[in-house]
Amino acid sequence: MPEAELKIVPIAAFSDNYVWLMQRGSLAAIVDPGDHVPVLAALKRLGLDLAAILLTHHHADHIGGVAELKRRYDPLVFGPDDARIPEYAVRVGEGDRARLDNMGLSFDVLEVPAHTRSHIAFFGHGMVFSGDTLFSIGCGKLFEGTPGQMQAAMDKLAALPATTKVYCGHEYTASNCVFALKVEPQNDALKKRYSEVRELRSRGKASLPSTIGDEIAANPFMRTRCESVVRAAQKRSPGVQAGAETLGVIRHWKDQG
Ligand code: ZN
Ligand code: FE
Repeated sequence: MPEAELKIVPIAAFSDNYVWLMQRGSLAAIVDPGDHVPVLAALKRLGLDLAAILLTHHHADHIGGVAELKRRYDPLVFGPDDARIPEYAVRVGEGDRARLDNMGLSFDVLEVPAHTRSHIAFFGHGMVFSGDTLFSIGCGKLFEGTPGQMQAAMDKLAALPATTKVYCGHEYTASNCVFALKVEPQNDALKKRYSEVRELRSRGKASLPSTIGDEIAANPFMRTRCESVVRAAQKRSPGVQAGAETLGVIRHWKDQG
């Protein structure tokens, strides 16, 4: 089984969520099923049995479909240690591995609190499932954490191999590019990414995955120690330092629209 090809299929849910489906042989593992309906349709269309579910955080648009999928398929479920995650999920944290033995898959768990206080990411097989922490050309809102925590999360993810494919929870890339260009109008990697994304979206394709290397080159929230980003933050808030303070200023700037 492990030698069978691993395919990744995006399942669109709600207006802009993705449920990522990993397919190997006749088995599937999915990430963040906010809605069971499109997942059931995809499993049926592809003829797959659901072996496992990975959950990055407790928000309804990421876990809303879990109960029905658990009832129908009884998959192994992994999620963060948080009372807001269904009780049958295996709790995992930093340094743990989510092992999907029957699919020959295993993921290192990274704790990346900030969007929520217990948010985790799953890294393995050249991929990271980053939920609502790292988006392509953006980061999640700070609902339960601080700029310092989001900066630490960005640093942890930026330390993964540059070729790591980034699978995040939402199709926000085009609007994120519009904002990022306000921060760094001269960033060529960002301009290139925006034109690629517009082209992909005009054909109805996902803008994902990106790579950690792409994000380091073009995502302002991963560039909070780059002079151009720090200077843009200082124009809004004189005297702010590189790193977490800069991240806090640009996050606030983006929140205000
Ligand atoms: Zn969320
Ligand atoms: Fe979300």
